[in-house]
Amino acid sequence: MTAPLVGVLALQGDVREHVLALTACGARVRTVRRPEELDGLAGIVLPGGESTTIDKLARIFGVRDPLVAALRGGLPAYGSCAGMILLADTVLDGTPDQQTFGGLDITVRRNAFGRQVESFETDVDLEGVDGGPAHAVFIRAPWVERVGPGVEVWGAVTPPGTTTSRIVAVRQGVVMATSFHPEVTGDLRIHRRFLDLVEGS
Ligand code: GLN
Repeated sequence: MTAPLVGVLALQGDVREHVLALTACGARVRTVRRPEELDGLAGIVLPGGESTTIDKLARIFGVRDPLVAALRGGLPAYGSCAGMILLADTVLDGTPDQQTFGGLDITVRRNAFGRQVESFETDVDLEGVDGGPAHAVFIRAPWVERVGPGVEVWGAVTPPGTTTSRIVAVRQGVVMATSFHPEVTGDLRIHRRFLDLVEGS
């Protein structure tokens, strides 16, 4: 079987890290900036970075509307951090003109962990990911404040110095998102999970 062709939206953010992780998992990878680069993809990754910038550049490059249409049409997608924000149907603490692509029936709070601790690392148990907890890096990360009925929660953390558990990993059908960045830790299990979704779809 040919390896699936997976896109990485390459407007801003840690594109290279996702390309390396997907390649290490055996996928064929294409960076995506223009509408025609969406053609023939079996899935797409939205990287960590700055969601407001990626949103603006997606509109400028004309890739926003075709990407939204592809997501509505069932293109498997994985978003880390800013990518999670871009996949969320609703964003809290966004900028006034901020838009998302949508696809996940969740509400995220942007920079949610930021006010307490800025950035932190912790081990997180992930349901459906074998081999023990994942080391997760949170960089001005969002958390998920609401999930719709079709959304599976597969990871949550209690931020340092607090007692409330926050949702940091979700999946709805073939769309998944994490608040943290598996692409920077060299732990390929989450990218493999995404490729399983892509191959099963
Ligand atoms: N705070 C960023 C945003 O709003 C996300 C940070 C990240 O991707 N590490 O998009």
